[in-house]
Amino acid sequence: MDPVVKKFDNNIYQIDVLMEDKKERMACYYIDSEDPILIEVGPSNSFPYLIAGLESIGIKDIRRSAITHLHLDHVGGIGHMVEEYKDHFVYIHELGEKHLPNPEKLWKAVADVYTEEWLENNWGKIKPTPLENIKTLNDGYEFKLSKTRLLKALYSPGHAKHHYTFYDEESGTMFMGDTLGLIYPHGEFVQPNLPPPDFDKELLFKTLDNIRNYDLSKLAIAHFGIHNEPYRLLDNAYESIDNWINFITSLPDTSDEEAASLLTTWVKTNYEILLVDNITIENYIKNMNPLMQIKGIRNYLNLID
Ligand SMILES: [Zn+2]
Repeated sequence: MDPVVKKFDNNIYQIDVLMEDKKERMACYYIDSEDPILIEVGPSNSFPYLIAGLESIGIKDIRRSAITHLHLDHVGGIGHMVEEYKDHFVYIHELGEKHLPNPEKLWKAVADVYTEEWLENNWGKIKPTPLENIKTLNDGYEFKLSKTRLLKALYSPGHAKHHYTFYDEESGTMFMGDTLGLIYPHGEFVQPNLPPPDFDKELLFKTLDNIRNYDLSKLAIAHFGIHNEPYRLLDNAYESIDNWINFITSLPDTSDEEAASLLTTWVKTNYEILLVDNITIENYIKNMNPLMQIKGIRNYLNLID
């Protein structure tokens, strides 16, 4: 399978890195400019696809990447990147300095949710990144892409406490990472993505409010793609997140596993009522990881209790 690279206006490229060897699971973005930047590197197993995608548009030297957050589907390939390109600098939340040179803890946290075997087969082992290749972001940090073009980093907690989004004023594109949720494959609906231990509704809504204040024409979502109608999608995200929390709160005392199965049935039925086609429903359901959602929401509800 070849990675699919799609060019958008303002020299923004979307690279489908074929996460888990499937299409439209994980997008990285490349802004071609005087001083270009890659946004997200994807998981380790996708690294060959990322490089092949970049080479297919003539990019052979990648000097810097901005990572939205420290989850392995977004940052897992960074050790491979700095090994391949010695002068590569990764820009990330300050926790990156702690975890990327010694990624065992990151690995274990995810392995506890997905199992080690699943992780190795699907996302691949993360290699350490030397400290000198790591630069930490702060809220409002500006990447200079050219004399006139800036990419601004916004601290965006809620999905994860180490999450940044990136705003390109020239194109009006906000690179969202997982802040909004999932949209598969080109769907109309935002499916929440609320994992433990960090999901926090108040923080996430504050982040979405902050993003809403920007002059937006597109949202670039990691899972998956560049979407128009940013304000409608943001409104949809608030509504879906509230609906999911209300649904979980309304469940009687059930195990996490039972709750996950009830959530799946309920979400599926909702898509059917909305007349979403079967393939799209399958995509949404396959990628929701319901048990993780239940754990994330219940963890949040316990915190505010
Ligand atoms: Zn993700």
